[in-house]
Amino acid sequence: MLVSGLVLILSFGLFLVAAYQYVQMESMQHLKSEMTCISEGIRLNGAAYFEQLRTKDRITWIEADGTVLYDSAPEQASTDDLLEREEFRQALEEGSGSSTRQAESFPQYYLYYAQRQPDGTVLRVSCAQDSMVSVMIILSSPLLGIFILVLVLCTFFAYRLARQIVLPINQIDLDYPNVDATYRELTPLVSKIQQQNRTIAQQMDELSRKRREFAAITEGMTEGFLLLDPHTNILSGNRSALALLEQTSGQQIENLRRDGCVPEIRDTVELAIAGKRSEFILEIEDRSWQMIANPVVAHGQVHGVVVLVMDVTEREQRDQLRREFSANVSHELKTPLTSISGFAELIKEGLVPPDMMQEFAGDIYRESQRLMDLVNDILRLSQLDEQGAMPSAASVDLYALSQSVLDRLASVAEENEVTLHLTGETQTVWGVEPILDEMIYNLCENAIKYNQRPGSVEVLLRRTGDEVVLTVRDTGIGIPTKDQPRVFERFFRVDKSHSKAVGGTGLGLSIVKHGAQYHNARVELNSRLGEGTEITLFFPAESKKS
Ligand code: ADP
Repeated sequence: MLVSGLVLILSFGLFLVAAYQYVQMESMQHLKSEMTCISEGIRLNGAAYFEQLRTKDRITWIEADGTVLYDSAPEQASTDDLLEREEFRQALEEGSGSSTRQAESFPQYYLYYAQRQPDGTVLRVSCAQDSMVSVMIILSSPLLGIFILVLVLCTFFAYRLARQIVLPINQIDLDYPNVDATYRELTPLVSKIQQQNRTIAQQMDELSRKRREFAAITEGMTEGFLLLDPHTNILSGNRSALALLEQTSGQQIENLRRDGCVPEIRDTVELAIAGKRSEFILEIEDRSWQMIANPVVAHGQVHGVVVLVMDVTEREQRDQLRREFSANVSHELKTPLTSISGFAELIKEGLVPPDMMQEFAGDIYRESQRLMDLVNDILRLSQLDEQGAMPSAASVDLYALSQSVLDRLASVAEENEVTLHLTGETQTVWGVEPILDEMIYNLCENAIKYNQRPGSVEVLLRRTGDEVVLTVRDTGIGIPTKDQPRVFERFFRVDKSHSKAVGGTGLGLSIVKHGAQYHNARVELNSRLGEGTEITLFFPAESKKS
């Protein structure tokens, strides 16, 4: 449309110029032939010729000195010297002359033609010249018609052509493009779309596979995992982390700032958004969760936060136990050491009379024994804790072992007026003999130590299903119900002074518990205050080697 418009305008302009020049040429030709007629007329009739002359053109006849002999339109005559006019000057000098000028009185252009006559006078003929504008006006109606027709045709064909090109493009099924359904020129485009569709499908497959893998990994994790954007919106998170958040705030959380999340979690995340790795321990009910928030930094900017949540309950409990244990160990070691040091100092200063020396030495020996027992128990416990270098496991006959323990304790039992009984039959388990020995020894020793006078202790061995069951039953003082869950704790004693008096370290049952864990055995405690205590160990039978 633009091209045809431009061509039309240009040809319109060119046509106008050509038409104007043609009109001017025709006018001049007309003036020249009129000049020939009038020249002939005045040659034959002189000035009288003008009287019979009928013409709408203006005729001016002058002498060579500029005197006007005749003027058909004196009202248009100028006051200036006519000889100054170009056409007159040319005519006088060269015989003829022409010019085009605007009239003085009104804005009409005139064409002038002058010719020197044989008698030396100069005759001039002039006519009004059609201006470019009037030529344009005359020609404009047909040209405008052509212009409009061409424009309408152009618009119609341009529209049709555009439709023909665009319609097949719009009809391409982008998901399943068909090369044959379009025109030839579109084939490269359709092939490109097909190729891109294949690439996109492959990438989508790859992406969903990765997403499934990622979901499988994160969902299988016991640790919680969260991915946040810089505005604390949760972009992704596994079930355990989301469940924990819900548990802490009592509602589903989508944004940690907005949805009433606990302040500690929010503060940790805010620190990470500020670019600092941060962590804290969250206590929920009886469990401890460690939360670590790491900023995701790229090009010096924080783009999000990765939060890991780990259940550190056992670690925290272990740390707590270790702290208590260290404090207890120092305290327990200090007591006999202070006694030993005190007795030794008295002897050193010569403050102990010779007849009491033996008694003092006995005290030092007893305290040293206590210290030794304590150190041995601590060593045994830490050995069980670390599960470090243990004597190798073997098939152990618990009946024979119990018999040997009771034999070793026979004198202590006699001192305490306690009778010992072993019932049952040979029962073997797979285990480490020194540990099993110490476990049975501790149980039987306690049963004797915390017994009545007179009292009895019974060790019972039997097998139930897949388990070998060892019970140590006494008729002793019993353990108060409230203390029963705590007697397996390190250094716990129901009655400290009694325990000390009977040479206890507070570690015996703790060793029993850890030894049982080492052998995959269960421990059960039944006790009635003033009636007696029964502690039972359930070992897996020997076929299930530990
Ligand atoms: P201890 O070296 O003091 O005996 P244990 O760990 O062996 O330490 O036992 C812890 C506490 O449990 C004891 O101090 C005692 O109060 C109680 N206890 C253990 N066995 C018996 C039992 N058979 N009868 C009554 N109380 C017991």
